[in-house]
Amino acid sequence: MSRTLFIAGNWKMNTSLDSGVALAAGITETIGQVEAVDLGVAPPFVYLPAVGAALAGGKILLMAQNMCSEDHGAFTGDISSAMLKDVGVRVVILGHSERRHVFGESNELVSRKVVKALADGLDVILCVGEQLADREGGRTMDIVGEQVRVGLEGVSKADMASVTIAYEPVWAIGTGVTASPDQAQETHAAIRELIGGLYDAEVTDALRIQYGGSVKPGNASELLAQPDIDGALIGGASLKVEDFTAIVEAGVALAQ
Ligand code: PEP
Repeated sequence: MSRTLFIAGNWKMNTSLDSGVALAAGITETIGQVEAVDLGVAPPFVYLPAVGAALAGGKILLMAQNMCSEDHGAFTGDISSAMLKDVGVRVVILGHSERRHVFGESNELVSRKVVKALADGLDVILCVGEQLADREGGRTMDIVGEQVRVGLEGVSKADMASVTIAYEPVWAIGTGVTASPDQAQETHAAIRELIGGLYDAEVTDALRIQYGGSVKPGNASELLAQPDIDGALIGGASLKVEDFTAIVEAGVALAQ
């Protein structure tokens, strides 16, 4: 089955109001009408309305970097799914390695967020990935498998149409070290096989699995050409119009 590539930028805690709007306007101008691949960007929460306005008229989806698992109430500093939807967010990144390893989010908390986001009509990018010691110790799929299994607990077959998994080896995020296309493909194939055991062939074939970890214009084509890599989640290189555009154009070239 051919899956439409999904290429998304995670701006993390970067940009200012002005530079974020300029970045959104820049990519809307260069790739905002691209049909062959699906696109999204996740700015910091406070810039969502302004960035959403700058993306208007194009096909680039407004995304959020995180959300609360609860509806409302005494959760100081947190943001609910309803609040994200209020400002035009369509997709939320959950379980990013920085949320897991800097802020201590557990698989169980990520799972509650996934279920909540889907129940409230947001699409989800569920991030999974092993740390260097896990890879070196041969435990990649123990860690990633558990993150996938627990992360998707309570997610129905129908809701899987709204889920993308992002495989992001922690040792490759923001480090300049990229998993080789073979390493990435091997883990993507293992994740797809695992999904086959949790759901059926229809879900397994349709599920998009993005790769993330130092994706750049120079390595995007080779990664995106792998049979089980269905897009990219991009940090650093999503902060420059020319780099993000070049990666998207590599995806468009493969889609044709
Ligand atoms: C990310 O933040 O999800 C990421 C993959 O970052 P980078 O592309 O900078 O490695």
